[in-house]
Amino acid sequence: MKLKIFSTLKKGRKVAAGLGILNLPTSGKQRILKDTLNRFGEFFTVAPDAITAHTVDGDVTFRICQAPGRHCLTCGEKLPGFGSTAQDDAANIAACGAHIAEHEAAGDKVSRSKRWPHGYMVLASSYLCEVLPSDLANEKMAQKGGLLHD
Ligand SMILES: [Zn+2]
Repeated sequence: MKLKIFSTLKKGRKVAAGLGILNLPTSGKQRILKDTLNRFGEFFTVAPDAITAHTVDGDVTFRICQAPGRHCLTCGEKLPGFGSTAQDDAANIAACGAHIAEHEAAGDKVSRSKRWPHGYMVLASSYLCEVLPSDLANEKMAQKGGLLHD
């Protein structure tokens, strides 16, 4: 999935005028960067469980699977996120470790990976999302295999 920002000239300056989505995937999870939302906030609505992209071809809603922060690999639960100070963060990391220890104590098979050996994943700068099926059913997108505007 690629986002395209259409721009226009306003008083000799290039300004963002619209958002397009190229190659909207029909399945799988997509990452939406926090940076994109910060830079082009006028084209997105962020709710606790969804991000809606207001594109030149209509709205596309992404269900948020995982927001930036820490997530347990075993049960998927959102764990304490990033602290505003190093001390807060250390406390949050300890709480994450305690959560994993609870799984171990309960006899759960704790999921770990090479990348996330502590048993939880850290999404620092992006939202992991999937497109809502109702938006995939949108005829225009089905025809084009994605939103495309030129
Ligand atoms: Zn868990």
